[in-house]
Amino acid sequence: MAANQYDVIVVGARCAGSPTAMLLARQGYRVLLVDRATFPSDTISTHVIQPTGIAALDRWGLLGQLLSTQCPPVDTYAFDFGPFTIAGSPGTDDSPVAYAPRRTVLDTLLVGAAAAAGAEVREGFTVEKVLTEGGRVTGIRGHGKGGQVVSEHARVVIGADGLHSAVAAAVRPQHYHDKPPLLCGYYAYWSGLPMDGRFETYIRPHRGWGVCPTHDGLTVVVAGWPYAEFAANKTDIEGNYLKTFDLAPEFAERIRAARRESRIVGTTVPNYFRQPYGPGWALAGDAGYNKDPITAQGISDAFRDAELCAIALDQALSGACSFGEAMGRYQTARDEHVLPMYEFTTQLATLQPPPEELRHLLTAIHGNQDAMDGFARTNAGVTSPADFFSEENTGRIFAASHAAAS
Ligand SMILES: Cc1cc2nc3c(=O)[nH]c(=O)nc-3n(C[C@H](O)[C@H](O)[C@H](O)COP(=O)(O)OP(=O)(O)OC[C@H]3O[C@@H](n4cnc5c(N)ncnc54)[C@H](O)[C@@H]3O)c2cc1C
Repeated sequence: MAANQYDVIVVGARCAGSPTAMLLARQGYRVLLVDRATFPSDTISTHVIQPTGIAALDRWGLLGQLLSTQCPPVDTYAFDFGPFTIAGSPGTDDSPVAYAPRRTVLDTLLVGAAAAAGAEVREGFTVEKVLTEGGRVTGIRGHGKGGQVVSEHARVVIGADGLHSAVAAAVRPQHYHDKPPLLCGYYAYWSGLPMDGRFETYIRPHRGWGVCPTHDGLTVVVAGWPYAEFAANKTDIEGNYLKTFDLAPEFAERIRAARRESRIVGTTVPNYFRQPYGPGWALAGDAGYNKDPITAQGISDAFRDAELCAIALDQALSGACSFGEAMGRYQTARDEHVLPMYEFTTQLATLQPPPEELRHLLTAIHGNQDAMDGFARTNAGVTSPADFFSEENTGRIFAASHAAAS
């Protein structure tokens, strides 16, 4: 058996991989972090970090670095349903705002934090093969840019390598709660579209779009339509993207006065859970769990995975408990936390008009600031949809609405 040069090898150095590597390196583990990208590097994402994700950056001592990049804070989420808008605060007293930093900025900061913690970072390194011995993952084989093929060994290899994870492809984990792609989202950056701390979402039958401020005075505008229209609309993405905004004339006027500063990019993604561990391996971030980006949860979820996975691995590697026990707790905590949001997200991503019962609830929420804050926090993933849509809470909202009307 090859000697373990590392305790942990992490494949993928963005939202899931770098924090996992950083947290383990801070615990004193020997960590190798590799990514085929070289940073700063962009990736497809509209990059809203929810207040829960911002709280993680704060816990890790990285929020100050982000704030020094002059990323504008977002203190209000506004959901325009046509007849009315529900606007509320997405955060809590401890973490009141969201930010939408460019991935070129965020991911570079995260890779730097992993290196500063003592992880060995290899950028521009592509993993070609996951090495196994007797059914157990033991390392990776890959190469740097133009470099020789090398093999590296570790006690655990973590796939934080995204949707098309090479680690997941090698270990073929069990999938569950799978749902097909539901929506296609396309986005571009605009100047001259001031947002004043607001993240606006527009909901129309079979269409939706989101508008959020980011670095450099730019605003990211993402528009989506059902996956069923993917093929038909692909021939004129720009035309369909721009036409979508006509469904809200006031917004259409604002964006017509703005200037598009980038090309339009987009994609569609499948929805799934994957078993996130097995002999010698673990998965974190999109590699282990993915859902439509309509609720902008991926980065904050990846941060949570990083913490849960690093805690579990520390317990396993230090011998405090068995690998299976520790990683089983990681899987349970992840799934219990994200499942209600997964169902909420995949329902929203159908872009079906809200059913009658929900329409009544939305009408009752509108104008009740506590309820509007609760709705904003639910969409932010700060409050669980299971709690917000519980009989008890919706009963309170309807009662307040009746009281106000009488
Ligand atoms: C259109 C769109 C909009 C989105 N908007 C938001 C949003 O507003 N807010 C939000 O929170 N989330 C959003 N998301 C989701 C979010 O971008 C992801 O959840 C997040 O990037 C996941 O991070 P990750 O680290 O798990 O994976 P990734 O960001 O995919 O990183 C994986 C890394 O692994 C590396 N890698 C892969 N294979 C190899 C290999 N063989 N060898 C070496 N390196 C490898 C890649 O180079 C990459 O750097 C959006 C997604 C999409 C598609």
